[in-house]
Amino acid sequence: MSKQPPMKTYQGSCHCQAVQFEVDTDSAELTTCNCSICSRKNALMVKVHESSFRMLRGEESLTTYQFHTHTAEHYFCKVCGIYPFHRKRVTPDYIGVNVYCLEGFDPTEIPIRATDGVGME
Ligand SMILES: [Zn+2]
Repeated sequence: MSKQPPMKTYQGSCHCQAVQFEVDTDSAELTTCNCSICSRKNALMVKVHESSFRMLRGEESLTTYQFHTHTAEHYFCKVCGIYPFHRKRVTPDYIGVNVYCLEGFDPTEIPIRATDGVGME
């Protein structure tokens, strides 16, 4: 048997609660990114497949910011400006979720991998 951590479901939201979503993750690792946008957001992310991501409400409150190749979609709430998640450029069927938007998520014990977004730009 592998030591795969169990899948858990987390509720996520932006600050004003307009945007609410749910993710299933084993949170085996977190990622940071040094690209021009992630470093400004100071983003700490957990990567989930789109099949493990469910939008509950507030799709109309999201707006996207795109730059460079315009493949990645950086979502943020129109009302409060919080970045809850983004769709990845290199792996567009994966979603990077801002762990600080997840209720009851404790990132302290989870290994963090730094991804080199600058290198990809
Ligand atoms: Zn909001």
